[in-house]
Formats: sequence, structure tokens, C-alpha cells
Amino acid sequence: MAAAHHNPGQPVTLELGGDTITAFSISALATYCLVPELNCAFDMGECPLEAVPLDRVFVTHAHGDHTRCLLRHESLRRLLDMAPATYYVPAQSLDGFMELAQAWKKLERVRDHQWRPPHFQALRPGDVVWLHKQLAAKAFRVNHTLPSLGYTLYDVRKKLKPEYHGMPGQELARLRREGVAFEDELWLPRLTFIGDSTIDTLYRERHVGQSRILFLELTYLMEDERDMARQRGHTHLDDLIQLVEERPDALQNEHIVLKHFSMRYDKRLIVNTLKSRLPKELMERVHILL
Ligand SMILES: [Zn+2]
Ligand SMILES: [Zn+2]
Repeated sequence: MAAAHHNPGQPVTLELGGDTITAFSISALATYCLVPELNCAFDMGECPLEAVPLDRVFVTHAHGDHTRCLLRHESLRRLLDMAPATYYVPAQSLDGFMELAQAWKKLERVRDHQWRPPHFQALRPGDVVWLHKQLAAKAFRVNHTLPSLGYTLYDVRKKLKPEYHGMPGQELARLRREGVAFEDELWLPRLTFIGDSTIDTLYRERHVGQSRILFLELTYLMEDERDMARQRGHTHLDDLIQLVEERPDALQNEHIVLKHFSMRYDKRLIVNTLKSRLPKELMERVHILL
């Protein structure tokens, strides 16, 4: 019988300092992460019904365990008369996803005049998507075996420039009318989602360590799996330990969610291994997605 934590229909719900996130991620099976308060999701390796209302899906990379249910999400929304969602994908994968959608159209014998292509949008590292006036997602490059993006959601706030502190509201209103830029924009990293990745991403994309919440993959834990981790473009526990030893300030996150464990491990093995090997200070901020 399959282990209970191998059922993609049974996600884990985490309360992370005000954000409620529902997610599932086991290597090769499925990965998805739903953030209903922000009306978005990351990856769609499975599509539980609570994912359907979310208007934006940020796809990390094209491996099936992360994308197999993208078109299910799209077709359920159509069936329920909902407006199309937007699917953000790495630019190099756009054609492939479109061909997949066309293959389904053909298999289901949907007529041309009845068919609307799914709303895929290609993204490249550095691209920004505004979810609303105070929330932006920024894509960054991730090292894996095929084109892959990570995403950081930022709360964007305006802050008075120091030279305008104490100025009366009427004056500020006048300056606003005159088009004077008296405010700075603050980008506060709220949540970063990295799909499958080697540790190299964390050495290069240093901003991820500042994010309040960080989703990280940790596929392999055992001593004899180091080569496999490297070959398959994944992170090994030793890599993570080495990172925090070499750069103690690398991960300053309030919450670190570790996910995408290999199917070979049972739950107790994962929990015990992490507890015994990760530094205590880090472990206190770690959530194990099981
Ligand atoms: Zn994966
Ligand atoms: Zn992958």
C-alpha cells in the first residue's frame, strides 16, 4: 500500500505568519502550492478542486510532476464558466505547452471555432508580473536539468523620502499634483518558490535568503545519493548543510519549507534525518512538507 504522504490529493496546510498555504510535493509524484489569499499557485502537478478558483499559476519548469494538471485546471475553469486563468511558463517551454494543449484539443475532437488556446504567458529571468498594485512577482533563473524559473512575491510599499518627513498632508497633495516623486518604493520579499533546483541557485540568487517564506527542494538525504542528486539536478542534504556552513547568513528566512523528498523515504526517516543533521537554529525555522 502507498504511504499516506504519497497521496497528492492530500496536501498539507501551513500557517506561515499570516499566510495560509496549501501544498503537496513529493519527487516524481506531484508538486503544487496554493496561496488563496494572493489568488495564485505555483506548479500544478495535481489539481485539487481548491486550486481551480486561483487566477494565476506560476510554473517553475516543464517536468510532468510539476505541470501534468495545468490543462486540467484550465478545462475545469472552462466547464465552470470561469474566466481563463493565466499560466506563466519559462519562455523556452511555451511552444511545448501550446502543442500539448493542441494535442488534447485533437484527442477530444474539439472544433476549431469552439477552441480557445489556454492563456500561457512566457517569462524570462527578471520579468515582473503585477498581481495588484501592492504585490508583484519577479522571476529568476534556477539551475535544474531544463529551463527553470523561481518566483519571489514582493509586497510593494510606498515610503516617504527622508527629506519630506513631517511635511503636512496638503503640501504632499500639492507635490503629488505637480508630479514630484516624494516617495520611495520598497520591495519586501514575502514568499519565494523554487521548484527543482541544485544548490547553485542559492549561491547565485542571494535575494532568496531574504524572503519571509522560502520553499526549497531537498530531494535527496542519504550518503550514497550525492551523485544521483547532481546528475538529476536536485539538492542533497549535504549541499544545504555546506551552504549554511560556508555562508551563515545565506538563509535569513522566517519560514523555510522543505519539500520534494524522494519517494524512497518514509516519513519518519525524513523527519529524523533532518532533525539530526540540520543545525538547530535552522531547524527551528524549517517546516517539513509532509
Ligand atoms: Zn520534480
Ligand atoms: Zn524537475
